[in-house]
Amino acid sequence: MRRRQLLLGSALAATTAATPAVTGAARAQVLIVGAGWAGLAAAYALRAERDLDVHLVDRTPVWRALPLSNPWLVGLTGERLPRIDLAGWAQRHGVRFSAGTVTAIDRTARRVDFVRSEASASAPANASRPPAARIEPLPYDALLLAGGAVADHAAWFGNDARAAGEARTRFPAGFAADELDLLKQHLHAFAGGTLVMTVPPPPLRCPPAPYERALLVAAWLRRRVLRARLVLLDATGGMPRFNRLLATASGGSLAVEHHRHQRIAQVDPFARRIVTADGTIDFEHAMLLPPMRAPRLLADAALVEGGDGGSNSDNSGDRGNSGASRYAAVDPLTLRTVADKRIWVAGDALGRISPLFGAYPKTAQIAAETGAAAAAQITAALRSAAAPPPSLPTSACHVWLGSDPPEQLLIDVSHHLRADGIVTQQVRQTDNPVPRDEDLAWARAVLRQRLGVQA
Ligand SMILES: Cc1cc2nc3c(=O)[nH]c(=O)nc-3n(C[C@H](O)[C@H](O)[C@H](O)COP(=O)(O)OP(=O)(O)OC[C@H]3O[C@@H](n4cnc5c(N)ncnc54)[C@H](O)[C@@H]3O)c2cc1C
Repeated sequence: MRRRQLLLGSALAATTAATPAVTGAARAQVLIVGAGWAGLAAAYALRAERDLDVHLVDRTPVWRALPLSNPWLVGLTGERLPRIDLAGWAQRHGVRFSAGTVTAIDRTARRVDFVRSEASASAPANASRPPAARIEPLPYDALLLAGGAVADHAAWFGNDARAAGEARTRFPAGFAADELDLLKQHLHAFAGGTLVMTVPPPPLRCPPAPYERALLVAAWLRRRVLRARLVLLDATGGMPRFNRLLATASGGSLAVEHHRHQRIAQVDPFARRIVTADGTIDFEHAMLLPPMRAPRLLADAALVEGGDGGSNSDNSGDRGNSGASRYAAVDPLTLRTVADKRIWVAGDALGRISPLFGAYPKTAQIAAETGAAAAAQITAALRSAAAPPPSLPTSACHVWLGSDPPEQLLIDVSHHLRADGIVTQQVRQTDNPVPRDEDLAWARAVLRQRLGVQA
């Protein structure tokens, strides 16, 4: 056993000539940044590896699901998935958990800068970097970045933190789990007028989610008999099935407008105004979603794509290179970053996987499956074992097409390795005209199998 531990401790030093050898650590340290679907699945997969010290960190102490949130927002269902206390989850599964934010990665020293939640809570809200005294170094032998996809308000507001803060708090898009309660409050206070939703250029998380939400919100506004106008400012061409439904979603005192291929020139959250290449829209309320990207941490550590034309995958037929340099550059089969052999990425933060379809769709199941796949790769690398065969993810997504009558669409995605080493993608769509909680059954199965959560 002792010999095995020593081997483990020094294994990765041999793979990265520029990094110092591991010294003195009894167990190899695996640090996982982000306890979402990907990070939790990775930690769950590693829980039985007694020769690894698994440390999971997340800025929020409680996990909450985004899947199934759209029908909940409009009162169609209750909150059907549990919120998970991460410290309790970690204790049950024998891994360490710390609540706080990773602010930087020092690849040479193999450690990250970490600010515990108590410390960040007492820091001034506008502080861009925490004072040095609050920063705690967390070492790693292997680092898994599972921070998801985040809204990049700087793409609209540059360094204007006041405007970004206003947009985030007054007009949250609900594409981060900790925005959901606030978004629901705002939506329920909406008393009519113009309600805007922005759909950013791909890749964004869960490509059908904005359209599902638009259709459910439209039906809900009609039921409330509000005099309202729901305007989707869509950077893409949309998705054909949803485009047709949105085109017929107006009715009674509600008008629904879906403006496609919109380029947003200016957003003023104080004046409640958006300027696009086609004109100006004043709104009463909005769900403002700017372009999405991997957490800035990755770009700061030079771990993102280099603007080489990385495409995207949103299953909508929209292709482009707008995703380049916003997501992690990885080897598609091992999920190891191109720039650093000690760092892996899983979940929504992943960039281009294949020249055929770009990035994986950013879904919860793909996040969980890539989390587990990265865990297997990390274990092998730490033991100097051969890389396990690639495990390519699948995804099932149950999307609401309408609520009156209830109707869903199942989007199944699978990936396969071609003989020439290129990953291919298959997408199948199946109508479900009489939904019977298949979405809930799917979520429960993934939670149980991949995250060890009984829901
Ligand atoms: C409205 C909506 C509906 C959706 N519906 C579905 C659906 O029906 N089916 C489906 O499969 N998918 C759905 N998705 C997509 C799904 O939610 C995402 O694909 C999934 O959450 C990605 O998991 P992840 O682990 O990569 O990221 P996340 O779940 O976002 O987890 C990332 C974690 O990292 C933490 N973090 C980030 N940066 C740091 C840092 N620097 N320091 C510390 N912690 C950090 C965050 O706090 C977060 O907890 C939906 C998404 C949305 C927005």
